Amino acid sequence: MRKKDFDKDLIINFRTHLPEKFQLPKSVVGKKILKEYGALFIAGRGVTVPDRVIFKDEEEVSVWQSSVETSRVNIAGFEIELQTAAMKHLKNAVAEAEENNFSITPRGADSARRSYAETVNLWASRVCPALIYWTNQGKLTEANAEKIHSLMPFEQVAEIFKLEEKGVFFSKDLSKSIVYSVAPPGTSQHLSMLALDINEYKNSETRRILAKYGWFQTVVSDLPHFTFLGKSENELAASGLKKINDEDARVFWIPNL
Ligand SMILES: [Zn+2]
Repeated sequence: MRKKDFDKDLIINFRTHLPEKFQLPKSVVGKKILKEYGALFIAGRGVTVPDRVIFKDEEEVSVWQSSVETSRVNIAGFEIELQTAAMKHLKNAVAEAEENNFSITPRGADSARRSYAETVNLWASRVCPALIYWTNQGKLTEANAEKIHSLMPFEQVAEIFKLEEKGVFFSKDLSKSIVYSVAPPGTSQHLSMLALDINEYKNSETRRILAKYGWFQTVVSDLPHFTFLGKSENELAASGLKKINDEDARVFWIPNL
């Protein structure tokens, strides 16, 4: 094979792996969300993925959530809810970890399924302190901060992305984009019931076992966060994802866009 053809074969277009009725985002915010959180949309093996990157309100979320089959299971004292196929593979991973004398446990009651309101509250928990911080630093006027604060939660997103382009970041440690810290309202993978935040994310053996059962890290620098893709690791590149390695030899799979 000529080198050029070989390279072409390697460039697998993520878009061709999206579900048939998927609504490709047109807005700047929607495109960024697809780029950062979109690995989810190639998930397979019996799960359903949303047909959009942004849910507009609680109504849209609950209609979609009630259209898919879910299971609730108590793991380490927390009752969590996931799509049934994702839960089945998670339970297998938890059992394999236990056989090897360690554990895979959720970080809290909101570690799997979330409601639209929960994504709004988490968003505000980052945005509000960051607005105060940057106002005190003289990077934002009080009037500007107040204006952003008074917007509807989703309308804040574009304003915050614009500030981040100028180095005014809203992640928890204020050093990077808020999307690596908390999802904008209506965009969290947790709404799809295919994501789980765990305590043992630092353990490479935990990560290996989760990967064996189709659970991967797909949001760069959100370390406790795992996503059910329902594929083996060697299928991911051919599904339109690319691998990002961090300095701790952690692997993240994100859309190859
Ligand atoms: Zn998460």
